Amino acid sequence: MTTAKGNENDVPFLDLITPHVELEQELTKVFQQGLRTAGFIGGPMVEDFEKAFADFCSTSHAVAVSSGTDALRFAIMGAGIQPGDVIVTVPHTFIATSEAISQAGAHPEFVDVDEQTYNMSPERLREYLEKQCSTDPAGKLISRRSGRRVGGIIPVHLYGQMADMDAILALAEQYGLVVIEDACQAHGAEYFSKKNNRWMKAGSMGCAAAFSFYPGKNLGACGEAGAVTTNDAKLAGKVKVLRDHGQAKKYYHDVEGYNGRLDAIQAGFLHVKLPHLANWNAARRERAAEYNQLLEPAEGSVTRPHEPSWSRAVYHLYVIRTNDRDGMIKHLKEAGIATGIHYPIPLHMQKAYDYLNYRQGDFPVSEQVASEIVSLPMFPTLRADQQVRVAQEIMRCLRVEVAR
Ligand SMILES: *Cc1c(COP(=O)(O)O)cnc(C)c1O
Repeated sequence: MTTAKGNENDVPFLDLITPHVELEQELTKVFQQGLRTAGFIGGPMVEDFEKAFADFCSTSHAVAVSSGTDALRFAIMGAGIQPGDVIVTVPHTFIATSEAISQAGAHPEFVDVDEQTYNMSPERLREYLEKQCSTDPAGKLISRRSGRRVGGIIPVHLYGQMADMDAILALAEQYGLVVIEDACQAHGAEYFSKKNNRWMKAGSMGCAAAFSFYPGKNLGACGEAGAVTTNDAKLAGKVKVLRDHGQAKKYYHDVEGYNGRLDAIQAGFLHVKLPHLANWNAARRERAAEYNQLLEPAEGSVTRPHEPSWSRAVYHLYVIRTNDRDGMIKHLKEAGIATGIHYPIPLHMQKAYDYLNYRQGDFPVSEQVASEIVSLPMFPTLRADQQVRVAQEIMRCLRVEVAR
């Protein structure tokens, strides 16, 4: 995604070309190997990548699938969520989170996000569980808004920053709910768990987690790809069956499944890129620290990302907040700087979810955030001089005097 004008000073939002050109020989070799073995789907290239990715996430299993959306859907089904059950998530996320809930036969309900981290607020979750649910005679937790049994929670590690997992997991345990992490933007992010007294990787904390390897993610394939991580061998086995038409043995179908396998070539590409991920994430963290410093003079007009002491974010996106968001985007565009909005309309206000009967005002933080956020250019090879330009244009737009 470069800007339309193609001026030399332009700052793109994302650079997907440089890292692939640098790895061209290795990636080409994977393609050749694919051609020469004709092992296009599944097989050793997929299994080798699965092992390596499980290692990276400090989980015992990773099951590669065809997208992050499928990863979420299969994780939900594999975790034993019953059709019709409620899964609680946030309205401030990409729609794939709630699509996967519906497509797994479950029912999405929302709780608001935290004002500082933009991730699921444990307080709002507690309020939902305590005040908006009741217990039926069988001891099951029932949502009052839908009359359905509540089965699980999907916190999203949005922008590459961890949700507050200790608090969420404690509530889940108290109410007997499963937790599935949407880690589609958080490959390599870490959370300091007080409960376990150690840093833990995104994807290793819930009963399962979903990752996306969409090309623009921190680890991206050269096409569509995803994975489920888990420490539960049984759950991993269920996901393997679901991704392959419900068969554990060819043409013996215990359940109806899906066509959700990963191409061998994509697994090979991902395996070539995986050893670079830690460095790419470190570069993103450095770029984020640089933006934090450059934008400090605009404090008061620009809210920079907040990283709690328990979070090591991997900055899939660098998102600021400002009052006149649309004005800033327009100004930056005219200066040749590409930006994004992730995401402009909270899920409960989307037409697709009219049927859930939420109203404007139901999730005030999500609504406020959605109207004020701007994602600035962020990728590992973003240059310091490009960041200076971005910051200068932001100051100019805000008419902030910069003493430099
Ligand atoms: C990208 C993304 C997904 C979906 O992943 P795909 O690979 O595009 O299907 C789900 N949730 C979040 C938060 C994402 O950013």
